[in-house]
Amino acid sequence: MSAVLDAPLLSTYPPTRVTFVDGDGITLLDERGREYLDFAAGIAVVGLGHRHPAVLAAAHAQLDRLWHASNLFGTEPARDLARALSARFGGAQAFFCNSGTEANEAALKYARKATGKHGVIALEQSFHGRTAGALSATGQPAKRNAFEPLLDGVRFVPPNDIAALHAAMSEEIGLVLLEPVLGEGGVIPLTREFVAAARGLGALLALDEVQTGVGRTGTFFAFEQLGVRPDLVTLAKGLANGLPIGCLLVADDVAGAFSPGDHGSTFGGNPVTCAAALAVCDAIDDALLAHVQANGRRLLGGLRALPHVVEARGAGLLIGAELDTPAQSVVDAALDAGLVCLTSGADVLRLAPPLVVDARDVDTALAILTEVLNR
Ligand code: PLP
Repeated sequence: MSAVLDAPLLSTYPPTRVTFVDGDGITLLDERGREYLDFAAGIAVVGLGHRHPAVLAAAHAQLDRLWHASNLFGTEPARDLARALSARFGGAQAFFCNSGTEANEAALKYARKATGKHGVIALEQSFHGRTAGALSATGQPAKRNAFEPLLDGVRFVPPNDIAALHAAMSEEIGLVLLEPVLGEGGVIPLTREFVAAARGLGALLALDEVQTGVGRTGTFFAFEQLGVRPDLVTLAKGLANGLPIGCLLVADDVAGAFSPGDHGSTFGGNPVTCAAALAVCDAIDDALLAHVQANGRRLLGGLRALPHVVEARGAGLLIGAELDTPAQSVVDAALDAGLVCLTSGADVLRLAPPLVVDARDVDTALAILTEVLNR
């Protein structure tokens, strides 16, 4: 066993058989020199592919100038990234942190301060993170049970059940928190009608775009395809192509609830990370988004034709194939065959490759999966 696998790490993840040492584009290399096709992208993170030249150059240049100053001072990369994200959103103010769960903590706190209410509507099967607040709004009992009691006031409704959504609404609800596509809970896209109903409830609407954001679904924000403008958006995974970052965006018209001292983060807005994230935002143009949509359709169509696939669904390059066999064993067999992919719940195979995959890569992945699923 390798030194890395032997390391004294708390067992919060299952044991792994592979140690990756290099990455380039959509290819990963293990310590034995074996190549893998990466259709996981570090769990929907490395959107532009490993060692993307523009992101690498931006991070290197910033490493050579200034690593850290704290949020007691301004830095150019954080300021420029806030401007770029505000422009993409159409007028928003940013809070930077280091992960998706922290971005959601910030959203939960922001909604409490802005509305004076602690009630939240969230979805069954949702995933918003592992810290106490984000876990409280995560609709997966298996992830919550050992840590109860969590925050009270969260009501869970089934995804796309408009009647249940209306029934859950009350005076105490200040926030509705939704993932446009439930990334960890089975790759379940929300319908336009459901999101419109959530928008109309009279509470703040926060969209957790930690997994769906930054081009993953074929638009910069997934909400662009849903016909709504949320009050709050959280981003993380793909934003800096693999460097740790999280972000809460608050629409200009509901901004102003936080005052100095209400919230903060020592490392949030780190100049190197923000410089990388700015390069990511610059690289996500209409041509790349069209490329994501085209290759997403190709992948979805190919999956629908495979054995053991009950249903394939998703948006852009966030795709789930519901199987009639345990997904983890398919993921394990695919890894042995040189394809890295993910599960999303017990019976959904999840594919979230770098956004830059081309048709040939998609066909190679489908060929490997065909071979694995035919065994
Ligand atoms: N929200 C969503 C939708 C996610 O998919 C995840 C992670 O998978 C998180 C929040 C938590 O993000 P992080 O692991 O960066 O804390």
